[in-house]
Amino acid sequence: MTPDHGDLLYEGKAKRVYAASQPDRVLVEFKNDATAFNAQKRAQLADKGRLNCQISARLFERLEAEGIPTHYLGLASDTWMVVQRVAIIPLEVVLRNIATGSLCRETPIAEGTVIDPALLDLYYKDDGLGDPLLSEARVRLLGVVEPEQLSAIEQLARRVNDVLQPLFADLDLQLVDFKLELGFNAAGQLLLADEISPDTCRLWDRRSSDAQDRILDKDRFRQDLGGVMEAYGEVLKRVQASCADPRNCM
Ligand code: UDP
Repeated sequence: MTPDHGDLLYEGKAKRVYAASQPDRVLVEFKNDATAFNAQKRAQLADKGRLNCQISARLFERLEAEGIPTHYLGLASDTWMVVQRVAIIPLEVVLRNIATGSLCRETPIAEGTVIDPALLDLYYKDDGLGDPLLSEARVRLLGVVEPEQLSAIEQLARRVNDVLQPLFADLDLQLVDFKLELGFNAAGQLLLADEISPDTCRLWDRRSSDAQDRILDKDRFRQDLGGVMEAYGEVLKRVQASCADPRNCM
């Protein structure tokens, strides 16, 4: 079902953002488009939008219950979320609990190394530049955020990890790494934004010891492992078992 919405404000790789009747809100439609490797690999995955929207809504509600401020207000339908309008900070904040992916391609750190406390990496959100890894000095030089804002961003991201890691562990899912985006609302409050889903988190199934079978996230798509939506469906099933149905907001 498509809820009443205003103009299309922005279309990203996995979501569309529309104006809502209240100026401080927007409507987010989760799409079935899957992209990887800076959109060089593309596909349509039936039901992906619904699965990511449903998983994300439940996780945002849990984070909110733990006192973490998020843009999430509620669901408008299966695939549509109502959120506070925020100015997105052009940083991708990645938290890594287990070494894999780009960390292991770019450094000699062995795949599967436990990282505690988690490594926090900042990337510049710019598809044209291929989302480059930044140093703190480069963040300062770019001037995308003030130094105090940067430490608030890092603190918030670590609190998210502190909630999500045990939440997923209780569901026999290992939160390997994930990407967050944050923004400021009209009142200047820092909020967790975007989505938290198998598109943006690496999740390994603790019930499987097989290095491929255990992958329940977008790496199945990136690596052509098949069963992508089955994996996302399994994540939703487990998240549903521990999180209440998300609230409606229209
Ligand atoms: N990630 C993301 N969007 C991006 C880049 C990374 O959601 O544009 C997530 C990715 O799914 C993983 C984590 O951030 O959970 C770390 O990704 P990494 O830097 O290892 O990149 P990759 O190996 O996917 O190139």
